[in-house]
Amino acid sequence: MHTPDSTSSPAMVIVGAGHCGGRAALALRTAGWQAAIHLVGDEPHHPYERPPLSKDLLTGDKTAEACALLSDADLREARITRHVARVTSIDATARSLTLSDGQTLAYQSLLLATGGKVRTLRIPGGDLPEVMTLRNLGDAAALAQRLTPGQRLLVVGGGFIGLEVAASARKLGCEVTVVEGAPRLMGRAVPEPVAERALALHRARGVRVLLGVGPLGITRTANGVRMELADGSSIEADTVLAGIGIEPDLALPQAAGLAVGRGVMVNAHLQSSLPGIFAAGDVAEFPSVLSGQLVRQETWHNAETQAAIAAQNMLEGVNSALAAYTALPWFWSDQYDHQLQVMGEPALAATSVTRTLDDAGGMVIFYLDADNRLVGACGWGETSRVAKELKLARTLVERRISASAEVLADPATKLKGLLSHAR
Ligand SMILES: Cc1cc2nc3c(=O)[nH]c(=O)nc-3n(C[C@H](O)[C@H](O)[C@H](O)COP(=O)(O)OP(=O)(O)OC[C@H]3O[C@@H](n4cnc5c(N)ncnc54)[C@H](O)[C@@H]3O)c2cc1C
Repeated sequence: MHTPDSTSSPAMVIVGAGHCGGRAALALRTAGWQAAIHLVGDEPHHPYERPPLSKDLLTGDKTAEACALLSDADLREARITRHVARVTSIDATARSLTLSDGQTLAYQSLLLATGGKVRTLRIPGGDLPEVMTLRNLGDAAALAQRLTPGQRLLVVGGGFIGLEVAASARKLGCEVTVVEGAPRLMGRAVPEPVAERALALHRARGVRVLLGVGPLGITRTANGVRMELADGSSIEADTVLAGIGIEPDLALPQAAGLAVGRGVMVNAHLQSSLPGIFAAGDVAEFPSVLSGQLVRQETWHNAETQAAIAAQNMLEGVNSALAAYTALPWFWSDQYDHQLQVMGEPALAATSVTRTLDDAGGMVIFYLDADNRLVGACGWGETSRVAKELKLARTLVERRISASAEVLADPATKLKGLLSHAR
């Protein structure tokens, strides 16, 4: 492998020092890139993992240090130059970019790993200081300060993050209400029976869940805030968390002339529409390996696995072959002592089959295409049970195992035994 020396070669530059950016920087060095690596991110922290922000970090069971992906020592050892700054413009013709601190960096290859920005509540009072969002360590610290016993938390949005925060807040002794505009929790990413079980669990743990009703406005009261709802009712709270999702900030790539849709559009090699520029993680819209459709994912696994492929392909001209991104989607959500996992693309299924895990509502739903090959699986139940079952289910889906509905549904069938059915 040709490894250019550090004086004559332009650098590898990564915009966004989050999960994907941090992992990609390290992967570039591990893959043998000898010259400069610049990791530019606008957060004051080194790259860290975000899943604990709504779970263990919020409840105080994990420290911010324990969420770090890279330490000072790691950066030094890998000779990664970390810039705490915002990238304000990209000149794709000159292959350079400008930072908010005035610096200009030249690049051989550039990775956009800029994640997404949280949606805010666009209603009157949505900008009050009691109304919070959760995306970064600073948000988590500010929210944690308010979640003391007896405090009233109102979560807007019954998606993963809203429900995880609801569970954490109950653990911390808060009174919790969740308001979701749709008639069910967790949207289309999760099958109806799982959404129903999650709803029952939250209610059993003391969360007041209101479905099919949206917020109209928020006003201050003598001792907190009051949210008016579309059905004419209102709820008082000390803190409101808007858990209504994220959207990629596409202004920077758009101004640089990159093709964008719901994210920065890339091909299977994570190459954007302009030479030398790649995108990965939450910001990238890429072709699904199962359907070929352009998809964007907001998951730990996507950030982790795309970082490796992007780094490999940024070395094009150094390493010869371009790698394709072929990983199947996978995400989890922890709520109380329960876990949800979704693997593959359930939307592509012709049929589904349910496997009961226990008497307490634990289940795995398998998704099969028209040829009875597995294209997805969704598990819900007590954490260790789901983790064990989904580990095998993931492998079955990855190998596109073909199995009959009867065999999959039968709790006596050992999933491990099905691995030999691979084509
Ligand atoms: C509270 C929370 C809980 C989660 N829980 C789970 C979970 O249980 N399971 C799961 O699968 N996934 C979970 N996720 C999702 C997962 O953490 C994300 O998918 C992952 O962090 C995406 O990584 P990324 O590198 O693409 O983006 P990020 O980690 O968001 O990193 C992007 C970085 O780029 C920076 N940036 C943006 N624009 C610029 C610019 N112009 N210049 C410089 N820097 C810039 C941002 O500030 C940020 O630091 C969770 C996310 C959150 C917020």
